[in-house]
Amino acid sequence: MRTVTLNNGIEMPILGFGVFQVDNDQTQKAVEAALAAGYRSIDTAAAYANEAAVGAAIEASGVPREDLFITTKLWVQDQPAEANTIRAFEESVSKLGLDYVDLYLIHQPFGDYYGQWRAMEKLNRDGRARAIGVSNFAADQLIDLIINNDIVPAVNQIETHPFRQNVDYQELMKGEGVQIESWGPFAEGKNGLFTNDVLSAIGDAHGKSVAQVVLRWMIQRDVVVIPKSVNPDRMAQNIDVFDFELTDDEMGLIAGLHTGESQFFDHADPDMVRWLSARRLA
Ligand code: NDP
Repeated sequence: MRTVTLNNGIEMPILGFGVFQVDNDQTQKAVEAALAAGYRSIDTAAAYANEAAVGAAIEASGVPREDLFITTKLWVQDQPAEANTIRAFEESVSKLGLDYVDLYLIHQPFGDYYGQWRAMEKLNRDGRARAIGVSNFAADQLIDLIINNDIVPAVNQIETHPFRQNVDYQELMKGEGVQIESWGPFAEGKNGLFTNDVLSAIGDAHGKSVAQVVLRWMIQRDVVVIPKSVNPDRMAQNIDVFDFELTDDEMGLIAGLHTGESQFFDHADPDMVRWLSARRLA
């Protein structure tokens, strides 16, 4: 598996397997199937409530720990952030049945994420998190964190797919030593991604599916990618992307699909506003 080298020298597989929205009782089976299909990088989070099932799958698989790259994420913590971050980390590794993780991310820039980052730096120095990073950090938040702390995040995991490509942001991050990682590479199928004409035509030219074209496009851009599937045929399809190459013209056609719009977040999303109103104004 091709890897990227993170800013502290750690090698991370460029393609992994995500388990967001996989029920706890489905997760062990899905991760076991993914490991059998050849995935070695697994992306979970405390907030997905399936770390224990990921851990059970790792144990059942018999894959040596050093061959795996396990990412989990810190969910928002109450004050004091530093102590609570260490406690949350310990809960996560205990559920995963591991002594250390390969990558520990702040899931969202919420709460005292400075305090959280100081605790993450400590976990990194202690060797309990081989690399530390962030997720969903906007450019100003990321640069602010870099300027005012010791350890530069190894990764920023952000919404990245053909409709929101983050090309300039990737360049900025690269200059700072931060690896871009895509979440939602297929935009979870939103905006007609799987039937998009441009992606379908490119797929047809290579005898590959739209999903494979999207993943290959990310890999050729040096974007780390972690597609999710609970379907073993799709898991196999999603890892079978190292035997073809998109041409410059094809990369250009896909670049043309960028609109910049999030397929997930509307800052005045009516459901979110209603949900928060019910809690804040009650
Ligand atoms: P994806 O963009 O990976 O889309 C997953 C969807 O695509 C599922 O419905 C899946 O269905 C379907 N699918 C997968 N492969 C194929 C295929 N080859 N052909 C057709 N359909 C396919 O969405 P995710 O949101 O899951 O993103 C991937 C990972 O990123 C997550 O699992 C998680 O680890 C991470 N993430 C992180 C976030 C963050 O805030 N940091 C936010 C969101 C995701 P099926 O399972 O039935 O195959």
